[in-house]
Amino acid sequence: MDAARGIRRLPGLGRTPRRIEPTRRPRIPTASAGGVRARTGGFGVAALGSVGSVRSVRRRMGARESSAMAPPKKVDGDILVKLGQQTLEAISRFTKSIPQQGVWKDVEPGQLAADFAKEPPVEPTEYGQILQKLETTIFPGALSWQHPKFMAYYPSSSSVPAILSETVIASIGSVGLQWKSNPIGTELEVVVMDWVAQFLGIGPAFHHTSGVGGGIIQNTAGEAMLNIMICARTRMHRRLQPDLSWEDAFHQDSSSFVVYISDQAHFSVEKACRLAGLRCRRVAARLEGNFSLQPSDVKEAMEKDRAAGLKPVALVLTYGSTNTSGTDDIAAFKDFAQEDDLWIHVDAAYAGAAWSLDEFKKDSQAVSEVVTSVNMNGSKWFLCGFDSAFLWVRDRQLLLDVFSASGVYMADAGELSIYNPEFKDWSVPLGRRFRALRIWMVFEYFGTSGIRSYIQQAIDQANWLRERIEEEPKGLFEQPVTTKFGLVCVRCPSDEATLGLASRLSELGYGIAPSKICDRDALRIALGSTATTQAHVEQLWKDMLAFVQ
Ligand code: PLP
Repeated sequence: MDAARGIRRLPGLGRTPRRIEPTRRPRIPTASAGGVRARTGGFGVAALGSVGSVRSVRRRMGARESSAMAPPKKVDGDILVKLGQQTLEAISRFTKSIPQQGVWKDVEPGQLAADFAKEPPVEPTEYGQILQKLETTIFPGALSWQHPKFMAYYPSSSSVPAILSETVIASIGSVGLQWKSNPIGTELEVVVMDWVAQFLGIGPAFHHTSGVGGGIIQNTAGEAMLNIMICARTRMHRRLQPDLSWEDAFHQDSSSFVVYISDQAHFSVEKACRLAGLRCRRVAARLEGNFSLQPSDVKEAMEKDRAAGLKPVALVLTYGSTNTSGTDDIAAFKDFAQEDDLWIHVDAAYAGAAWSLDEFKKDSQAVSEVVTSVNMNGSKWFLCGFDSAFLWVRDRQLLLDVFSASGVYMADAGELSIYNPEFKDWSVPLGRRFRALRIWMVFEYFGTSGIRSYIQQAIDQANWLRERIEEEPKGLFEQPVTTKFGLVCVRCPSDEATLGLASRLSELGYGIAPSKICDRDALRIALGSTATTQAHVEQLWKDMLAFVQ
C-alpha cells in the first residue's frame, strides 16, 4: 500500500496505479488509438466540429428543461414504427458516411464524455434531439470497425440481420433464466449451437443432440476460458480425491495445479488461470512457420513441474493466436488427455471460423478427437456481431458439476433433456440474453454458403497481398511469419521504416496497428471487414509501395 497516497499497489507489477482524475475539459487532441498516434481528419474533425453544434442545439432547444410529452412506458407499436424508421434512417446515413471518414478517432479520453450532462435528464428529451446526439456525438465517437480500411485487431463484422435481431431481442425483452422463462430462447440456443458446430466440423460428441456434450453462448472468450479453468480445477480435485463431498471440491488447495499455454496465447487465458487460482506455465512456441507449441516442449515443462511437486491439470492450445494468427497442432497433442489426464481446451476465438472451409476441416476434426472443450467467437470473423462467444464441451456434466445452483424461487426445471439443458447450470449468469436469435437470423439470412464465402473472401484478399509481398523484387518488405488466414504480418527492413509506414497508412485513413514480432516492429493487417473489397487491398498495396519507393 502506498500509504502517503492511499493507493494499493498492483501485486507483482511494482507500479502504482495512476489516480484517475475527474474529467476535465480536454486539450485539443492528437489521436492515440490502438498504439497509433495520428490525426485522422475525416470523422475525427467532424466529431470535433459537431460536439459544439450539439451543445448549441441543446441550448437552443432547451433539452434539459424540455416540455416533451411524457412518452408511454408501454411499448406502443405505432410509436415504435415511427421512431424506428427515423432511427434506421440515422443508421443508414451513418453507414453510408463511414467510407468518407478515417478509422481512428481524433479525440482524447474525456472529450466525448464532456458533452454529456453530469446528471441524468429529469424530463424526457424529444426523440429528434436524441437522434441528433446520436449522429453528432455517438456515431462520430465510435471507432469505425465496419470501415473498409479497418484492418486492426481482428475484424468484428456486423451485418443487417445482426443489427435488426438486436431490436427483435429487445422487443421480446425476455430474461432467459431457465427453459420456462423463455422456452424458445433455450431451445433456439440448443439448435444454433449445434448448427455452428456442424458448420465448423466440430464433431457430434459436442452437439446437444448427443445428450452428453453441447454448447452455450458466453459473453466473451475470456469468460468462457475462466469457466473452463474453474471446471478443470474442480474436476482434478475430484479425480485425485474421489471421496470428496461435492461442496469440498471447491475448497481444496489448488496451489500445485498448473495449466500449460503457449507464450503466444491470448492474455485472457493467463487471466483465467489466475482467477481460477491456477498456476499458468507459458511454454515458448517455436517460430518455424508461425509459432507453434511443440508437444516435446510441453512434456519437458510438465516433467520439470512434476519433479518440483506440481500437478499438470490443463493444456490450452491456440488456433489463431492474436498477434500472428499462429496455430498449435491440435492433433499432435492427442495422447496428452489420456496419458496425463489433462483437460485440453482450444481457444479458436478468431480462426475457428476457418473450419467452415474444407481446407481447414482436418483441424476441426482434430478438435473433435482430442479436446475436452473449445471456444470460438461469432463476433469476430463470422458476421454475428458482438457478443457471441461460443463454447462447446464434450461432457456437459463437467459444467453442471461446478455451476449447478438453484433456489425455491426458481421454477422446477423438471426432467433435464436435450432441449431443456437448464443453461443457468452451465456457467455463472442466471439471466441470459436471447443471443441465439441473432445467430439464427444471421444463418437464415446468409445461409452457410454466404457465411463461408465471406470467410473465404478475407483469405483470398490476404493471399493476394501475401503474394505481392513475396514477389516484390527489391526486398522492400518481409513477412516475419507465415500466416494463412485473413491476417498478413509485414515489416520493412528497419523498425524505423516499419513505424514510418504505420504512420503513413494511418494518415491515409487506414486502421492498421503496429505490433512486435520477435522484438521487431511489424504491422498486423487483419482483413475481414465486410466493406473491404479487393480494390481496397490493391490500393493498400499501392500505398505501401509508394511509401517505400
Ligand atoms: N483469444 C484470442 C485468440 C483472441 O484473439 C481474443 C481477442 O482478440 C481473445 C481470446 C479474447 O476475446 P474476448 O474479447 O472475447 O474475451
